Amino acid sequence: MATATKKTVKAKKQVRVAPDPYAPNPWFLVRNSKVHGKGCFARKDIPKGTRISEYVGDRVSWKEADARYEGYDVNDNHTFLFIVDRKTVIDGGVGGNDARYINHSCSENCESTVEKGRVFIDALKDIKKGEELGYDYQIGRDKNDPPNVDEIYACRCGAANCRGTMLWPAKRPKPRKKKKVAKKAAKKAAKKAAGKKVAKKAAKKVAKKAAKKAAKKKSAR
Ligand SMILES: [Zn+2]
Repeated sequence: MATATKKTVKAKKQVRVAPDPYAPNPWFLVRNSKVHGKGCFARKDIPKGTRISEYVGDRVSWKEADARYEGYDVNDNHTFLFIVDRKTVIDGGVGGNDARYINHSCSENCESTVEKGRVFIDALKDIKKGEELGYDYQIGRDKNDPPNVDEIYACRCGAANCRGTMLWPAKRPKPRKKKKVAKKAAKKAAKKAAGKKVAKKAAKKVAKKAAKKAAKKKSAR
């Protein structure tokens, strides 16, 4: 019977449940990494498809996230901001868990998934005990990036296919000629960016804001 078949399929479908995000993670532990600062290492073999952790933290608007990191050093490449959608960013730096320490890797063994506004880290393949977890941050480029942005987000993951940067695309794209096209592309990019890490935009906006402030002061005089 058709209904029975459907039920069977449904029952077989794997429901991924993330471990309690605020309890010590059962799959990995945090220690110093050769790649970058702290990293997350498998406590035991992790089967492919495992929902390793939820990426939690303060849920804020892009504007709030920008304001939060405004004063930060442009050359600091720690990024705990995670794009949920066009409105929301998760700041793992505030109220976040250990998932924020999972490093970028060009040869990822994990992937990030956005489900109903929540971000999860899943095992993309079988991971051996002791292996460092990593996923591709694919940090988006922005026209206000500082000139040394590739240096700031240089990747040292050591993978054979390392592209040398946490940014995506790997090379700075050529400027587009038509405004309309650029706008469309930006919209598309925002959609694509969901579930990716984001560079501290704040730093890029500091100069702009400072100029605005200066102008205000001038007119007040
Ligand atoms: Zn790399």
